[in-house]
Amino acid sequence: MTATGAAVAASTGLTDEERLLQETVRDFATRELAPGAGERDEAERFERPLFERMAQLGFTAAPFPEEAGGAGFSYRAWTLVMEEVAYADMAMAITLSVHILSQYPVFACGTEEQRRRWLGPMLTGEALGAFGLTEPHAGSDASAIRTRALRIGVAGSPQAYRVTGSKIWISNAPDAERYLVFATVDPDAGSAGITAFLVEKGMPGFRLGRKERKMGIKACPAAELIFEAMEVPAENRLGAEGEGYRIALSALGEGRISIAAACTGLAQAALDAAARHLTERRAFGGPLSEQQGLRFMLAEMAQKVAAARALTRAAAEAKDRGEPIGEAASLAKWTASDAAMSVTTDAVQLFGGSGYSRELPVERMMRDAKGAQIYEGTNQIHRLIVAEQVLKRAAEAR
Ligand SMILES: Cc1cc2nc3c(=O)[nH]c(=O)nc-3n(C[C@H](O)[C@H](O)[C@H](O)COP(=O)(O)OP(=O)(O)OC[C@H]3O[C@@H](n4cnc5c(N)ncnc54)[C@H](O)[C@@H]3O)c2cc1C
Repeated sequence: MTATGAAVAASTGLTDEERLLQETVRDFATRELAPGAGERDEAERFERPLFERMAQLGFTAAPFPEEAGGAGFSYRAWTLVMEEVAYADMAMAITLSVHILSQYPVFACGTEEQRRRWLGPMLTGEALGAFGLTEPHAGSDASAIRTRALRIGVAGSPQAYRVTGSKIWISNAPDAERYLVFATVDPDAGSAGITAFLVEKGMPGFRLGRKERKMGIKACPAAELIFEAMEVPAENRLGAEGEGYRIALSALGEGRISIAAACTGLAQAALDAAARHLTERRAFGGPLSEQQGLRFMLAEMAQKVAAARALTRAAAEAKDRGEPIGEAASLAKWTASDAAMSVTTDAVQLFGGSGYSRELPVERMMRDAKGAQIYEGTNQIHRLIVAEQVLKRAAEAR
């Protein structure tokens, strides 16, 4: 992308360093991600060498502190990376986002030994990560998961856990080497029994199940995880027993800002494509861009992209300041994914018949947008999170 109006909008208010980062990512994404994105989607193929290129550029370690082996980016800078990657290829952005999501909890609550052993190959991109929470009977209500972790060995100090159950819809699963998996040590305890485990590809009793047949982000494959009395050593338990629910929710806070940034990039790509098309396509004696009704549509699309970006950056800045991010992350993710859905749908409309064709990228963008209203908390769940905070403040003010 050259210095279009869109690029200017995306770089408004950035520091020189952030602008340089944005240009570097944009250059990479334009040259290396965008050209094959349509073909990878058609083939439903994750291309590992492209992920490795992102690792070489430091993206797989980006939002983690330098003293812990990360690249030390601010979270605001991380949203710039996500936005540019998604502008070119939403599926690759989600692969990267989930990879980062699966590392966060190990940074936040892993032991020194776990961080060294587990994160080293993930930061360098040698190992790909996945985040295994959802089950056939538990999605929005994650506290209802049934995957069971039975203690083996001495009571109070188990040597290992025997994990039995399954997960569905796990992004990156077919290609990953490392999985952060949530299971319950006490099915009657609800969220208080949920515990996090570090699971590696090849552990006896662990196999992949059915690959999900998805509508969009097809180049970010997802699959079922099946655990048949999988033995997980106690040193692979992350945090204490019963801390898993809190660990999952806290990682999802960061993940949601990252998804919001990806949705902003996706929506911007659809807006830019539509604007170019309206300028080039002629009908009724002039370019379509002269039709006021279509200009109104374009303006409303731009409004949604700007709102998505503003809320995403506000949430990232709150994280950088060390403030609680729950509500801000929900507002950003919900707004940005709705913006992506609406803007990509309008882009298809503005392209007319060609927008409905798989020959052009806007139909892929529209399919890619839909999932973001569902994963990392459906947008209904985000309304509940926001409403809870609003009511809490109202009660405190009384
Ligand atoms: C593309 C994609 C990738 C995914 N990747 C992962 C992954 O990597 N790891 C992982 O663990 N999971 C993943 N998921 C699963 C995803 O997190 C769940 O699909 C999501 O949390 C919703 O759960 P569910 O599908 O069980 O729907 P349900 O929870 O059954 O919800 C069905 C509908 O009811 C609504 N609803 C539910 N409860 C309420 C309520 N209390 N109030 C109002 N409305 C409500 C929901 O918003 C939704 O519209 C992925 C899903 C998709 C589509």
